[in-house]
Amino acid sequence: MAASSKVSFYGGVDEIGGNKIIIEDKGTRIVLDFGKSFKARSKFYDWNETPRVANGIGDFIAMGLLPDLGGIYREDMLALAGRSKKEDPLAVAFFLSHAHADHLDYVSFLREDLELYMGETTKRIVESLEYERGTRLEFEITGYKRRPLEKGSSRIARKINTFVTGSKIQIDSIEVEPIHVDHSIPGCYGFVVRTSKNTIVYSGDLRIHGNNPSLTRDFIERAAAEKPDIMICEGTRIDETSLTKEKDVFDVCKYFVERSKRHLVYADYSYKDIDRFTTFYNVAKSTGRALLIHAKVARYLKSLSSGGNPLKLPSLGDENILIYKPREKSGVYHDHDYSKEDREIYEGNQSQVWTAENVKRNPSKVIIALGSYQIDQLVDISPTEGLYLHSSSEPFNEEGELSEEKMKNWLDRFGLQRIHAHCSGHASGRDLNDIVSSIQPRLLIPIHTEHGGLFKLFHGLKVKVPELTKEMEI
Ligand SMILES: [Zn+2]
Ligand SMILES: [Zn+2]
Repeated sequence: MAASSKVSFYGGVDEIGGNKIIIEDKGTRIVLDFGKSFKARSKFYDWNETPRVANGIGDFIAMGLLPDLGGIYREDMLALAGRSKKEDPLAVAFFLSHAHADHLDYVSFLREDLELYMGETTKRIVESLEYERGTRLEFEITGYKRRPLEKGSSRIARKINTFVTGSKIQIDSIEVEPIHVDHSIPGCYGFVVRTSKNTIVYSGDLRIHGNNPSLTRDFIERAAAEKPDIMICEGTRIDETSLTKEKDVFDVCKYFVERSKRHLVYADYSYKDIDRFTTFYNVAKSTGRALLIHAKVARYLKSLSSGGNPLKLPSLGDENILIYKPREKSGVYHDHDYSKEDREIYEGNQSQVWTAENVKRNPSKVIIALGSYQIDQLVDISPTEGLYLHSSSEPFNEEGELSEEKMKNWLDRFGLQRIHAHCSGHASGRDLNDIVSSIQPRLLIPIHTEHGGLFKLFHGLKVKVPELTKEMEI
């Protein structure tokens, strides 16, 4: 094979997310991220509709949700689509920047003998989400069961390697060095990739206005020192200048909670975003309330706190954390309705457990952090007035959120006033300009944006907007 270097993009082009970047050097190919494309998917499917499993990978490829790449997909999924021809894998190593769906989820379709590389925290988040979600075709990251599912069939584990910032991973002539960045979920990385011909830096998703800007600063410094030939940079908010910081979310929410003295406060944010969790925990603490969380969030906190609590999360015994115990789901069985895992959380933290009755009697003692997914708990709590703090941090609808219209109907029904307070996980146009001018790549390739061309406005920057599936010689 010719000794050339190439880069190609199979997602993240003219869309926010769905990143799948292939880098080739001397015949070896690696892939950076393998995300779900919400844009492609939402063209044909609602969030709760799944392409036909019975056709394996067939519907996903036919409808443009997955690229038709050779030798990388699960045999069971290929067989269901009537494609059983064995091929050499197009790429052997997949590097995953962080645990957001648009970068990670379509790993679910990959063959189990391909090497996955991810940060330790990403692995923990993934394991915790797999546990909460159960078997789900589009989220089988650490392992899967062959389709069609058969009773008693064993789970096939994937080959997962974890890295830390500064690790150096060699795949033939390609070296990959992950460097931590700050974003709206813990454990995010950008990558420095050295091929035999050039150095490429990939931003992953990043920001410098969050609670941990020093992480992204480290990445910028490291990337600049490389004097990279190419920077593949996210541009989600290239067309925005808003400078709202996480601290502003705290200030706005605290202001309104303080003025809602006797009333119920309901918060809606992505629980996976630990910075936002911390913001609401601090709002609760500073207003004399406790944050009332779901048992699954309690488990998420526990799992991220293990191993020395690197993210410095409060413990479940903390006086400003309470755990919400809903009434049994179906009402058919007594107490057996709670999962074993939920029961463990309730029993292990008895003094912290609150029911709808507790909230009804003491609405001003808590901030109910159950999100839109649990909004039907309002029926049991039955408020007549209160505050709803909307603070979503992801650009798409993932966990079965209600449509805006239905949400508004719920809020109107129970007399809740809506306040929106939010700080993005992505750098603004101004910050992107600062980041790029500090790193000074010879060529910038924008991805994860619908406005990549705007990078051309940055002074003295050479920009090439990629085309989907088209190889770029580098
Ligand atoms: Zn993303
Ligand atoms: Zn992200």
